Amino acid sequence: MYNKIRQLSKEIFPKILEVRRELHSHPELSNEEYYTSEVIKNFLKENDIEYSQLGDSTGVIAIIRGEKQGKTLGIRADIDALPIQEETELPFKSTVKNVMHACGHDLHVSTVLGAVYVLKHFKEQINGNIKFIFQPAEEDGQGGFKTIYKWGALKNPKVDAFVGVHVFPEVSVGQISIKNGVIASAAGGFTINIKGKGGHGSAPYQTIDPVLIGCRVVEALQSIISREVDSLIPSVLSVTTFHAGQKSNIIPEEAIITGTIRSASSEQVENIFNRVKRTAVGIANASEAEAYVEGGLGVYAVENDKEITEKFAKAASKVIGSENVIWTDRYSLGSDDFAYYAKEVPSIYFKLGIKNESIGAIYPNHNPKFAADEDSLEIGTNVISAFALDFINN
Ligand SMILES: [Zn+2]
Ligand SMILES: [Zn+2]
Repeated sequence: MYNKIRQLSKEIFPKILEVRRELHSHPELSNEEYYTSEVIKNFLKENDIEYSQLGDSTGVIAIIRGEKQGKTLGIRADIDALPIQEETELPFKSTVKNVMHACGHDLHVSTVLGAVYVLKHFKEQINGNIKFIFQPAEEDGQGGFKTIYKWGALKNPKVDAFVGVHVFPEVSVGQISIKNGVIASAAGGFTINIKGKGGHGSAPYQTIDPVLIGCRVVEALQSIISREVDSLIPSVLSVTTFHAGQKSNIIPEEAIITGTIRSASSEQVENIFNRVKRTAVGIANASEAEAYVEGGLGVYAVENDKEITEKFAKAASKVIGSENVIWTDRYSLGSDDFAYYAKEVPSIYFKLGIKNESIGAIYPNHNPKFAADEDSLEIGTNVISAFALDFINN
């Protein structure tokens, strides 16, 4: 069986490479993945795979029904791109201004389509079902998952476990990286609106200056992580935007500050958010201004199930060799709405290696120079297919 998986993964590689490049040159933002969705459906049609479109959204769900009853495995690929101007010299670089597949979701689509192709050849041996979820709008917080969930995609047949894949440039091509428990962080954010009192720049005593108060708030927020929360739970708080004023001789009415919070623990994100709120309101009030704070936890942490992760490692080792299945203690402070699937049923989210210094595949996700060694597509197809068959039949 594993030899056949390897052979089929090799066979489909040129086609999924073509799909990847087509998607890479035509990236689409969250909830606008119309062309992407067409490309996915065309592949499914060519391969005689049953699928449905998620209402009027861009999501697509395909299913391979086995000959006999059994478990159902869900395999999820996110499909959206980012508002970034691509700065690579690739011949298939983005043709859309300020839109780029800088998170590698084009690779996720292709590698999962590869698994569709491999697994359709095992139809007679599948006791149960394999569902492939092409999810829109991952970069949009939990928007994409919500669409999937509302559509009832986790039911009929009910999914017993999920696999999620993400490409990472800190893992070498040819390898995958896995971890039990938390593998991607919980994320939240905040928007602070400081209302002061505007006036002439020459007469600050007649105003309540939201710029100065905003600066004090930004400075004070830096000590929440270092002084107020448990150092043994890794956490990050970054203030990322600060907007105030129009003209150099006017003290403005308000300042708006936003930022992001990440942590291994979802509770910790909420805890930090409450402290952001207290700090901003307290500092504003001390200067007779008002602070209105919105935000909180956005996405839970992605937590891998121990048993499923071990099964996954075993299956992956059979097709790419155990030396290429890297166990890690590190998780990223990036987040993924795959967390919601993993909260519903036991799941595995693994990191697919794309790093190759000789072709410049070294830049982090969301960087304008982000690039990938495309041999990773065949690796991804191999490990997902091997795990799917092991899971369904054992
Ligand atoms: Zn991303
Ligand atoms: Zn991503």
